[in-house]
Amino acid sequence: MHRQNFLIVLVLFGMALSGLIYLNSSQNNNRLIYLNSSQNNNSCYQHIPEQVVNKSKWKQTIVGLRSSPGLSYKQPSALVGRTDVASVTPWSAPIIWEGTFDATLIDSIYKQQNLTIATTVFALGKYTRFIKDFLESAEQHYFVGFRVHFYLFTDQPESVPEVKMGENRSLTVLKVQSLNRWQDISMNRMEKLEKLIENELAGEADYVFCLDVDTMFYGRWGAESLGRLVGVIHPWFFDAPRDQFTYERRPESLAYIPAGEGDYYYAGAAFGGTLEDVHNLTKTCREHLNIDAVKSIEAVWQEESHLNKYFLLNKPSKLLSPEYMWRGINEGAAPIKIVRFANVPKNYAEVRSNA
Ligand code: UDP
Ligand code: MN
Repeated sequence: MHRQNFLIVLVLFGMALSGLIYLNSSQNNNRLIYLNSSQNNNSCYQHIPEQVVNKSKWKQTIVGLRSSPGLSYKQPSALVGRTDVASVTPWSAPIIWEGTFDATLIDSIYKQQNLTIATTVFALGKYTRFIKDFLESAEQHYFVGFRVHFYLFTDQPESVPEVKMGENRSLTVLKVQSLNRWQDISMNRMEKLEKLIENELAGEADYVFCLDVDTMFYGRWGAESLGRLVGVIHPWFFDAPRDQFTYERRPESLAYIPAGEGDYYYAGAAFGGTLEDVHNLTKTCREHLNIDAVKSIEAVWQEESHLNKYFLLNKPSKLLSPEYMWRGINEGAAPIKIVRFANVPKNYAEVRSNA
């Protein structure tokens, strides 16, 4: 073949080949299905993109709620339930109160899923004094009978007390650097959680809950709390009008929520869900905290303000009533029939390095 013709053929061949490669790769990314809508008697073809199946890097959680044959429990009623509280949000997410679930039934359903519940808690500075009661009371009340893995972040691993853990329950202590301001300790949790989920929990746990340490369990906290994205209604604001919520009100902050907006005021002391959803939450809050810091603005309640903004735009799939983060064991309020998890008293001036 003439040298020039040979080159032309080579170039054409190359173009055809790259075209084929492009077509093939774009088909893999977004396959088109052609549906013949011949019923309409026209020859138009509708193409609908098939859902792209992303292989998840997170452990796949079983979604079916399988029940055991022969299990005996009280008949559910379509008519009778709690009338003194709301047990569903306007976006159809359940709100969990005493009397809205059957513990035996719900345990039997979730025990079949062989779950691991990761639970994170931070104790820096003088907050190490809360660890013992937190862990010991968790042994009594928190996900009893389930596999639970606690991750304790502290700047003093040597002062973590010995706590006897039950079967299938374990504690990992992770050392973190000391920080001076309590606001920084509290805010820094978002970044630590984000990294923990990425590096340690992926492929290990099914759900994660992130809890304050200056707390104790006094009643059952179990599988009724599991959901994709779970928030807890703050114990001081469940009966307040939204304009009294202590949201961040300055538009310069990314946590800003204007008057007239907002659903509930959520506690920063407890949230959870699947790894994927809590990872997105912690990552977003960490990014927003950083952007605010660059602009020298710190939201009024630090990460709690950013959490509230996140939940406004990413509605939780399940809400826990203030039974799950109550004011204190000796405090009462009409709708609270049981205290499951509550703050323990603390002398702010004494425990915080900068009070
Ligand atoms: N924290 C800590 N050391 C501190 C301050 C805070 O370990 O010096 C952690 C601890 O886990 C605590 C959480 O940050 O539960 C939130 O802070 P705090 O409980 O003081 O906030 P509050 O619940 O009083 O709003
Ligand atoms: Mn606290």
